[in-house]
Amino acid sequence: MPDTTTTQTITTDSAVTTDSAVSGVDIELVGVTKRYHGQKKAAVEDVNLHIPAGQILMLVGPSGCGKTTTLKMINRLIEPTSGQILIGGEDARAKDADELRRHIGYVIQGGSLFPHMTVAANIAMVPQMLGWDRKRITERVDELLDLVGLDPARYRDRYPRELSGGQQQRVGVARGLAADPPVILMDEPFGAVDPITRQRLQDELLSIQEELRKTIVCVTHDFDEAVKLGDQIAILREGGEIAQLDTPANILAAPANRFVENFIGAGSTLKQLTLSRVGEIDLEQTTTATVGESGPEVLQRARTNGHRAVVVLDQRRRPLRWDWLRAIEDQPVISDENDDLVTVDRRATLNDALDTMLVSGHGGVVVTGRRDEYLGIVRIGALVNLLQETREQAEQAMSEAADLERPAAPDHAEAALAAEALQQHAELPPTAEEGPQ
Ligand code: ADP
Ligand code: MG
Repeated sequence: MPDTTTTQTITTDSAVTTDSAVSGVDIELVGVTKRYHGQKKAAVEDVNLHIPAGQILMLVGPSGCGKTTTLKMINRLIEPTSGQILIGGEDARAKDADELRRHIGYVIQGGSLFPHMTVAANIAMVPQMLGWDRKRITERVDELLDLVGLDPARYRDRYPRELSGGQQQRVGVARGLAADPPVILMDEPFGAVDPITRQRLQDELLSIQEELRKTIVCVTHDFDEAVKLGDQIAILREGGEIAQLDTPANILAAPANRFVENFIGAGSTLKQLTLSRVGEIDLEQTTTATVGESGPEVLQRARTNGHRAVVVLDQRRRPLRWDWLRAIEDQPVISDENDDLVTVDRRATLNDALDTMLVSGHGGVVVTGRRDEYLGIVRIGALVNLLQETREQAEQAMSEAADLERPAAPDHAEAALAAEALQQHAELPPTAEEGPQ
C-alpha cells in the first residue's frame, strides 16, 4: 500500500522527517563473509547491505542467523573473512581497529556498564581515550544524561548497581553517544527490560535520533521493535542470508517469501497498530487544568465541556495526574501533587498505547510531546474505530480487486481479527466512556 491511504493514521514509512542535519555517514557491506575457525558453514555469507547516512537499519531474524556477527564486523570486534566494509566511503579494514571503534558507538543489552565505575566514568570512557579535557568531559556527561532522561545531579555519581535495568540501559545509550560518533551499533539494546520500559527507551531513541540523525544499525529478534524503529529492516535467515530488505511498511504489505511471512506472522498480530504512531492520529482533547489555577474556574470549564475528569498540568504543560471533578471541588487552587501519571510519547506506536492501557488498567492514556508536554489523550475506543476503518478499506480494496480479478488485499482477515480482539478489550470496565480511572 502506498503511503497515501485514505486514513491519515496509517503511514507506511517510519523514516524520521525533520530538518535537523544528518550527522551519520553511509555504511556499505560488500560481499562480506565470516567463517569461524573450524566451521564448515559460514556464519555470514556474502552479505551486501547499504545503510544510507542518518537512517536506522534493523537487523532481525531467528537466533543464530548471524545478526551479531554482521554487526560486530562493522566495528571489527569480529574480523570478516572476506569482503569489504565501507564507513563514510572509507575502508574499515584499512584503519587501526581501536581507532575505528572510538568513532563507532556500541550499545549492548543491559548497557554492560563497568560495575566499579560511576555512571559518569562509564560514559566518559571514550572521550577520555580521545584525550578530551576534564571540563569538556564533565559537560558532555551531564548533557548526555539529560538527553537520555536522567537527572545529572542525581545520577552521575551513582554506581550501576544503584540503577534500575532501564536506567542502566539509558546510561549504556549515553555511553554509546559520548564521543558523538556518526555510527551507532546496537545489539538487542532493549532486550533485558520490561515491556513498558522498553517502549520508553525506544521512544527516547527515536526522539534522540530525530535530533542527531546518526546512522544506526540495530539488532533485534523482536519484529515489532524492528517495525517501530527501522527506516529499513533486513530480515536475515541462517548464514546471514537477507530474506528481505525494505521499509517496514513494504515488508508488512508484501512479504517477499514464505520465510518472511512466517517470521512476521508470529511476531506482529496487530500490524496496523504497530505501523501507526500515537502522534499521527487525531487525539481526543479533554479539559486541562494548570497548577495554581482557580479550582472553581476549572470546575466550570469541565462542566461546560461535559467532562467528568480533568488532566492537571504543571507550568510547563507537563501532565501530573487525572483529577475527578469531586477532587477539584476540594481544591480552591489546583495543587501540584504529582501522581506519577503513566503517559505515552507521541512516537509510541498504537500498539504501545494499547499495552500501556492494558497494563495500567485504564481505558485511555495521556499522550505527550517533544518536551513531555500534554498533547491529548487516546482511548481504546479510538483504536477500535481505527481498525474498523482499516477493515472497511481492506474490504473496499478487496471488492475492487475482485472486479479486476486481482488477488485480494492480504490485510483483510488480520484487520478483522484485530478489531474483534480490541472490541473485547474495549468492553473492559471501568473507564472506556467516562473518565480516566
Ligand atoms: P545471532 O546474533 O543472529 O543470534 P550470531 O551472529 O551470534 O547469531 O551467530 C551466527 C552463527 O555463528 C551461529 O551459528 C553461531 O553459533 C556461530 N558463532 C557465533 N560466534 C561464534 C564464534 N566465536 N565461534 C564459532 N562460531 C560462532
Ligand atoms: Mg546475537
